[in-house]
Formats: sequence, structure tokens, C-alpha cells
Amino acid sequence: MTKYIFVTGGVVSSIGKGITTASLGRLLRNRGYAVSPVKLDPYINVDAGTMNPYQHGEVFVTEDGAETDLDLGHYERFMDVFCTGGSSITTGKVYRQVIEAERRGDYLGATVQVIPHVTNTIKDGILGIGRDLKADVVIAEIGGTVGDIESLPFMEAIRQIRKDVGAENTLFVHVTLVPTVGPWHEIKTKPTQHSVIKLREIGIAPDVLICRTEAPLGAEVKDKISLFCDVPTKAVIESLSAETIYEVPLMLEELGLGELIIERLGMEKRTVDLEAWRQLVKTLKNPGRTCRIGVVGKYTGNGDAYKSIAEALVHGGIPNDCAVEIEWIESDSLETGVSPADSLSKLDGLVVAPGFGGRGIEGKIRAIQYARETGLPFLGICLGLQMAVIEFARNVCGLEGANSEEINADSPHPVIHLLPEQRDVTAKGASMRLGAYPCNVSPGSLAYRLYGSTRISERHRHRYEVNNDYRESFIERGLVISGVSPDYRLVEMIELPSHPFFVGTQAHPEFRSRPNRPHPLFAGLVRAAVERRTTPATS
Ligand code: GLN
Repeated sequence: MTKYIFVTGGVVSSIGKGITTASLGRLLRNRGYAVSPVKLDPYINVDAGTMNPYQHGEVFVTEDGAETDLDLGHYERFMDVFCTGGSSITTGKVYRQVIEAERRGDYLGATVQVIPHVTNTIKDGILGIGRDLKADVVIAEIGGTVGDIESLPFMEAIRQIRKDVGAENTLFVHVTLVPTVGPWHEIKTKPTQHSVIKLREIGIAPDVLICRTEAPLGAEVKDKISLFCDVPTKAVIESLSAETIYEVPLMLEELGLGELIIERLGMEKRTVDLEAWRQLVKTLKNPGRTCRIGVVGKYTGNGDAYKSIAEALVHGGIPNDCAVEIEWIESDSLETGVSPADSLSKLDGLVVAPGFGGRGIEGKIRAIQYARETGLPFLGICLGLQMAVIEFARNVCGLEGANSEEINADSPHPVIHLLPEQRDVTAKGASMRLGAYPCNVSPGSLAYRLYGSTRISERHRHRYEVNNDYRESFIERGLVISGVSPDYRLVEMIELPSHPFFVGTQAHPEFRSRPNRPHPLFAGLVRAAVERRTTPATS
């Protein structure tokens, strides 16, 4: 029997509901349970693919090619699982399904309503994940804050699931804020009380309250919350801010949350294996050294826009016993006439981030030129690879005006161009080359040394590709095409053997990195950055 844990949020948004959900999953994974996470997002977009990363944060891509909310990234990283498109349920997706069913005539003359048609579709999605993935536990996070109009159908659906599968198989976890106010930093429980009242109005009584707070709660406050919110005192869990997000599962375990969940859901008690996780948190908190890696992108004002890259860099530091300080560099800022050295000379490594459209492109190209010419370790991701190819074409092969068709359709040297199969695609939603694709890695290349394999698979999200007409001239001038699609048609990875670490990948390796399994490209970049830092005179 699959168990269901539902995580709701109260009082304010951005209190770490995603990290809490991901951490709950880690507690169960440490006990050897199969966990499948689901994110329920009340927005009307069918998926996150068409949203601006500046507003909404990164678009996380699953193995099966769904463009989803960045919380799925937290789930994958903490729980070390692979999410699927089914792990993301949005209002847009649900309504699309309901309307398509109505048009097909599936509802046979019924008046189609939020209850039961919309709620049933949501329920099918959640229960389907448990069934299809044979999960011991499904953990479903409901986006937004209790009281939002948009999330009501989702709340109603999870209320019904408790009725359908039984209270003993479901657990409602409410993440709430317990603020401190006034000069004496008095702890206030009222917002939490109100938030629970709001939940009760829609028929949901929480079993566990995770109280985000800046100050430890103390027995008296916990008793008060327990009394007013009708939750046992031991289920009032304080959640203080952590030094690293990866410490949250350890903190929650310490407070007895793992045991509480197991008991409450009537699951078998198992030995908890926390050692590996404890070790990686220890390294993150007390690293032996530091390096500084610049990330050039066009949404650097929002820390969430490149979430997986930031996390992958942190993971890459772990095997190198190194804290990675990230310097966010807005690509436009490299176009204003200043020398790239001004902003890049203090760096030990450089990432050029993925992106769309023309803004900031020349800044990225200048940064790459600087990295290529000065031996600064460089990793180009997706658009970052494309810009590295343009830089090489212009400055090494002398192909003046070389560009991507995405930026200049009339370029005399369209070294990056649309694939023929993309030419007639007009709709923007879910129409790119998306999801995991295999890649053959050349033996003897740096990519091969890093991956340790000639056959890899990485996730993609792009429309443009390296133009094969130019492959030979690039190779002649020293560019190594170290990864290609199995049919040899698509360039997947490039590198420069004359450089200490210069790698471009058409894929998004950041999506596969986990703290317990750092991605080889990021670990390699950090290692090269550490080497450069410790031997500055020769590099
Ligand atoms: N805009 C580029 C393309 O569509 C790169 C996309 C990306 O960086 N994810 O091919």
C-alpha cells in the first residue's frame, strides 16, 4: 500500500517548502524506502517551459523531457531519484486533460465541474505516480500558500485522497512561519494559528507542523501551538535556517521527524543510514579550501534562475574539499567597453550559462575569449557551448561575422543553426529538443577522462545546433569534438586540448548532479579551478 504525504505552506511563500519536502524524502530514502515526489502547481501554464526564469526561476528538465518547476530539482538532488513529467501537475495540464476529455465525449452528457472532474483528474495524477512508479511513499507538495484561490482544487483533491485511501495512509504536513517581532524578538504563534484555521476551513487538519523560525521555539511555544492547532507537541517541529540546505534533513532527523512519519504512517521501522549524507554536509561546512567561479548569464539578478548550476558547482566542490564561491556576472556588463579582465581576472573558473535570445551574447563571447586565451578553466553549457563555437569561429578560424541563426539569421557564417526538423516548428511550448539523449564520447578526450565512459546520457533543452558544414575547419584549427550523437549528426561536446580545462556541452549536465554524486564536469571544473588557484604563476 502506497503512503501519501502532502506538504502545504502557510503564512508566506518562500519559506522553504520545497527544501522541506525534499528533506522529508531524504529521511525516507535513508531508511531504504522508494519515494516518488510530485509538485502540484496552481498556475495555468501547462508547464514552466514558457515562463521567464527571472520571474519564476529556472526551468528544470526531467529525463523524459518535461519542462518543470525548479522544486523538482531539489527533489532529485535530495532524494537521488529521477522525476518524470508526471511528477509535475499544473492547473494548465489538468484543465487541458479535462477539456480534451470533454471534447472526446468522455463525460457523457454530464456538466463538467471543478468537483468532481477537475479534482478527479488531480487525484488520478497523484495516485497514478504511486501506482506507476511502485512507490512506498508519494510526497506531494502543493505550490502556493493556503488561502490562495488557485490552489483550492488541489487542496480539495488531497482532502478527498485522505478519505479514499484512509487516514492511516496519509499525512498532512504544513510548513508555516513562526516570526519574532519587537525589540525583544518575541515569538509569535498567531500567524500559524490562522494558517491552520484556513486549512481546517477546507477540511484539512494537519498532522505535522514544520515551523520555520529564526529562534528556537522552546517547550512553552510548542505546547501553545500544539493546543491551538490540535497537533501533538512532538509533531510541532522547529525548522531553523541552516548553514547549507543539505543540512536540513539532518536537522529534521535529529528532531525526530523521521521516526514520527514512520510511526504515524504505520511503516516498518528500519535502520537509518545517514553516514554518507553526514559526511558530505561536514565537507560543505568545513571545506579545506575555496575557489571562485564566475557564472556569466542574463538572469543573474535572480538567484533561482540558475539554481541547478549553482547547486552543481557546490556539489563539484565536495570531492575537491573545496567551497565554491559563485560570482554572478551579468553578460551585458561585459559589453560596455570595459576589459573582460576587469571582471574575470580574479576568477579561478568560468561557467557560461544557458539562455535564449540575443541580449548579452557578445558579453558571453568576450568572456569565453578571455578564458580561452588565459587558460581560465571554462565550462560552457548549452548556449555556453554555442557561444564558445562562435568565439572559436571568429577569433581562431577567422570567420568574420560568425553567429547563431538565433541571433542573426543573415550571418555570413551561421556556425550555429536550426535543425531541419525545427524549421517548421512555430509553437513555443514543449517544442524544443528536450530530455535525455545519448552521446558517444571520444576515447582519449578530457570528456572521456571525466566521465570514465564512451557512452553517456544527458538532458537537453534547445533548438539550435552546431552547423556540420564547419566541423572540419574547426577540427583543423584544434577544436576537439569530444562528444557526438550516436548517429554522428549532432555535436554534443567540444574541448580544447591545448587548454587546462575548456569544455562545452550542448546538454545540461547540471540537472543530473547530486550532492552524493557530483557531476564529473562540475567536479572537473572545480578541480581545474583549484589547480589554477594554487599554481597561478604558470597558468
Ligand atoms: N537558445 C539556444 C537554443 O535554443 C540555447 C538554449 C539553452 O541554452 N538551453 O539552442
